[in-house]
Amino acid sequence: MNLILLGPPGAGKGTQAKLLEERHSLRQISTGDLLRAEVKSGTEIGLQAKAVMDRGELVPDAIIISMLERQVEGATGTSTAGFILDGFPRTVPQAEALDAMLARKAMPLHHVIELQVDDAALVERISGRFTCAKCGQGYHDRFKRPKVADTCDVCGCHEFTRRSDDNAETVRARLEAYHRQTAPLLPYYAANGLLRVVDGMAEMDTVTAQIETVLAGSHGSGTEPGQA
Ligand code: ADP
Ligand code: ADP
Ligand code: ZN
Repeated sequence: MNLILLGPPGAGKGTQAKLLEERHSLRQISTGDLLRAEVKSGTEIGLQAKAVMDRGELVPDAIIISMLERQVEGATGTSTAGFILDGFPRTVPQAEALDAMLARKAMPLHHVIELQVDDAALVERISGRFTCAKCGQGYHDRFKRPKVADTCDVCGCHEFTRRSDDNAETVRARLEAYHRQTAPLLPYYAANGLLRVVDGMAEMDTVTAQIETVLAGSHGSGTEPGQA
């Protein structure tokens, strides 16, 4: 089963993707995580992407598409039952490139799940977000604190990181980029019959349950019957 999680920054895509990964043996492909890894290792892509990300703008399509292509390539032939795209596509040209790539590989796309969240809630979610420095588990100052203070629930580590682009000014630019460049994907996938809308304002567990209901339902149109 191949899925796209679509939604504005802070909507809960990463949180839900990690849960789906475990439950359904899927592989999360997050272009944001890939870019941050490139920045960290100081690669050519990382050098180009860093300033753009810090401004809250979108990295050029050509860079993103070739990065994504390598990932999907790496996922085929492995034991995973499919992929969850988190943070990709973010523009209509990226969606068209994805369609072309999947068609070439005869891989179906089953659902495009939109997490709907108000802008005001997004600002609060993003400004309270932090992550375990070791295992990457996500937390929130208000909505998801570690069970034991300053200790990661998953790996017991005491070090946490906050993203440099999770600040008030950059968040505004990122929301604007979402509404201007990414929201046009909603009618694109509605026209394909793949769009499923989920209320992302609900609590995390409720959002997960809504997604599971979508996945338990019939697979989207345009898929190849019998394929996982
Ligand atoms: P995205 O990947 O869409 O940018 P995240 O999954 O990182 O979003 O979530 C943003 C922040 O909001 C994180 O700190 C996360 O713990 C928190 N969060 C995620 N889902 C919810 C929810 N349903 N209710 C409240 N907070 C949430
Ligand atoms: P969030 O979901 O919280 O906005 P991401 O981790 O998905 O954050 O993305 C962080 C930044 O990385 C974006 O603001 C953008 O600069 C860049 N980025 C990630 N994915 C893409 C993409 N598909 N196209 C263009 N830029 C991207
Ligand atoms: Zn951890």
